[in-house]
Amino acid sequence: MLAPEQTEGPYYVPSAKVRRNVTEGKPGTLLMLQLRVVDASSCKAIKGASVDIWHCDANGVYSGVQGSSGTFLRGIQKTDAHGLATFKTIYPGYYPGRTVHIHVKVHLGGNVVHTGQLYFPDSVTDRVFRRKPYSRRGKRTTRNAKDFVFAQGGRRSLLGLRKVGSAYVGSITLGVSR
Ligand code: FE
Repeated sequence: MLAPEQTEGPYYVPSAKVRRNVTEGKPGTLLMLQLRVVDASSCKAIKGASVDIWHCDANGVYSGVQGSSGTFLRGIQKTDAHGLATFKTIYPGYYPGRTVHIHVKVHLGGNVVHTGQLYFPDSVTDRVFRRKPYSRRGKRTTRNAKDFVFAQGGRRSLLGLRKVGSAYVGSITLGVSR
């Protein structure tokens, strides 16, 4: 199934750094992301695609916008021969009006071939948010079912999550058309 195209939202910053570790020391539950890019029609892995991610920190803040500085929690990785792009990041927090999400763009040969958002099962987020630093904030406002972007096919871009020690591994296959 194809993860749906979804809005990039207002907080995209072009020219993020090419790097696997985007944490920049931000506190939170460690999250390893394994994003696999395949051709939507043949399901074959696509090598050399640039995968661009960005998301908010545990307090719901994005870097580089709205008076916030820095480049934390933004980065680009190229897919390997298996179509895989791997990131080391933290579990995102939330900001008012939105469920927990990670923005993603896939670039291929200079073109954007996919713009989407990745989501988390609410039950896992509930567990993560019981711990610091997430627990310092009030109850989150919006869960997946009430989110206006998730409503547009978001179920198809839910990350598969696996707990490894105190960290999580989140994985998904993104089918793109070229
Ligand atoms: Fe966002």
